[in-house]
Amino acid sequence: MSQKTSAEHSLFEQTKSFLLGIWQKYLDIPIMTKITLMLSLCLTGFIVLGFYYGNIISEIRQNLETVNRHQNARFKIYKRLTSQTDAIRNNLNLANTASTCGEEKLAALKNIKDHLEQLSHLIIPLLNQESHRKGRQRKNNNGIFYLQEPLDPVLNISVGNAIRNIKKHLTIIEGYYKNMGQGTGLPKTLLHQTRSIENDLLVIENFASKILESGVSHINSEIKRINEHAVWHIRTGFVIIALVMLALLVLSVTWGKFLVGPLRIMARSLESIHTTPATADGCASIEKIPVIGNDEIGQVAFATNKLLEHIRNICHFRRTIESDETVTDVYRRLGQVFKRQLGLQSFVIFEVIRESDKMVPVYIEPPEIETELVEMGISPSKCRAFRTSGFVTSFQDEGICQVFSWPDALTHACIPMCVGGEVLGIVQFLFPFINNPEREEAFQDAVMKAKLYLMEAMPVIKSKLLAQTLSESATKDPITLLLNRRYMEMHLDGIVARIKRLNSSLGVLMCDIDYFKQVNDQYGHDVGDMVLKQFAGIIKSQARESDYAIRFGGEEFLLLLVDCEPGFAEKVAERLRKKVEEFVFRFPQGEFSKTISIGISEFPKDTDSIWEAIKFADVALYEAKRQGRNKVVRFTPDMWRKQNF
Ligand code: GH3
Ligand code: MG
Ligand code: MG
Repeated sequence: MSQKTSAEHSLFEQTKSFLLGIWQKYLDIPIMTKITLMLSLCLTGFIVLGFYYGNIISEIRQNLETVNRHQNARFKIYKRLTSQTDAIRNNLNLANTASTCGEEKLAALKNIKDHLEQLSHLIIPLLNQESHRKGRQRKNNNGIFYLQEPLDPVLNISVGNAIRNIKKHLTIIEGYYKNMGQGTGLPKTLLHQTRSIENDLLVIENFASKILESGVSHINSEIKRINEHAVWHIRTGFVIIALVMLALLVLSVTWGKFLVGPLRIMARSLESIHTTPATADGCASIEKIPVIGNDEIGQVAFATNKLLEHIRNICHFRRTIESDETVTDVYRRLGQVFKRQLGLQSFVIFEVIRESDKMVPVYIEPPEIETELVEMGISPSKCRAFRTSGFVTSFQDEGICQVFSWPDALTHACIPMCVGGEVLGIVQFLFPFINNPEREEAFQDAVMKAKLYLMEAMPVIKSKLLAQTLSESATKDPITLLLNRRYMEMHLDGIVARIKRLNSSLGVLMCDIDYFKQVNDQYGHDVGDMVLKQFAGIIKSQARESDYAIRFGGEEFLLLLVDCEPGFAEKVAERLRKKVEEFVFRFPQGEFSKTISIGISEFPKDTDSIWEAIKFADVALYEAKRQGRNKVVRFTPDMWRKQNF
């Protein structure tokens, strides 16, 4: 029992999946084919209906023809019967006419006999027609007609009697004429015979009329039957047409729903792009269009979904980079999008540094190509994308870029990162030479999408760069690009707190260029500035990334060495002093060397106040100057007392 149920179930599932498969195939076919299919179905329906009605009409026509033929046959019978009765009557008159001779009378009687023969020849099959009718024989080969409908049995008997009577009376009349010879008049007995014959003739004629009448009633009933038949078929036809129309209506409405439904969602989704609040959540809520089939609508829905997804991703990307802290974060996120979402494997994001007239790679994918890039060191003025502020690719024009490093191995596509007419950087996408048009097309498509992401990122990058410049200008010295005093004041507490927390120490180096005034006096202020700048470079080169190099005053610099072990500050200071001593400042105006004096203190070893430690370093510096300059002096408490601050 349960086996049967499971077999039925699987059969049901199979049928269901088969029907669903057909439905899916129907949904997948192109719209024009769908319309053609529907119209063909309609046409086939109407052709079938046409054949059906054609058959019915031809059947009705055949029936009418049969009725007409039978009526003609009845009419013929009627005519034949009445022509025989007329002939008999005429001959009877002739026989009874006084003026005719005996021979003529006998001849007339013979004629009557012959006609009577023919009459009975016509009538007897009609009287026996019932057996023929049962045998479904309607017409014999001798041209004798049988009637379709049964005759009145009383009439049959009377007509049979009439023929027999006429024959009997004729025999009497004939006998009279033969025995009596010829006579001129008609004896009374004969008169009786002839009247009786005439009565019988009337019975036969009545019979003939009845045949005709019965035909009429038969025609009426036959027409009624045909009429009913036609009405039934017309009604059935109407029901069939109504059902076909209903099916078409249902099909059209269903199909229309499939057509209009996705279009409505499409319109709604596209509309919501404008109306949805521009937040990451808002972007994610844009409705996806269901792809029901693979016809043109399905394809449009698919393409729109792709577009919406792209917009959603871009929207999400924009919101995310807006919350990123630095431009480097934005570059990194851009790099991830190019690689993960767009499948771009090799690319470099260059930032244009106007001050140094350089294009610096800030994101490289894959990182292994970095060494080759460093060799490039392109000036922005040589970059075609930078100069033209336009998209440059070697896809169509090989060798378009003179400074491109791998013209024989790679194709490149360079997108300038423009905002407000300024090119902030260049993104260079690289693609190996492969004779595969599909992959090339996919690459170009991905590059175009990357362009959209860049367009979204540019204002954010610009604003972050501006904010960065602003904060740098507030905390950085413009000549030396070292941290300024303001920065120190702002962050010193934090630095000290960290040192205390880690139980570490801070080396404080106060540096001052010896006789710097002479540089200004001898070579001018501009050279003085350049010396300060290069001097700052030397200080930075001797410090670690985590240390703080601060322009403390005119030509005084403070170097804070984080996590400074005992003796480490002296080592760094001595190394720095030596570096400066060995360095030759070269300018068009001349070449010269300079020296520095450095005072050292340690926090919290010398004092637990950072400001006091700085002061101690300054005291030590003063001592270094006093000792003849180009010296490194470690602070000792006696200096403090000696100098009497
Ligand atoms: P000492 O060895 O005693 O330090 O001698 P010095 O000449 O270096 O010291 P002094 O304090 O007498 O002179 C410092 C000079 O530094 C004075 C000032 O003109 C110059 N100076 C300060 N700031 C700047 C600057 O931003 N640019 C230039 N070019 N010169 C500066
Ligand atoms: Mg000085
Ligand atoms: Mg000074």
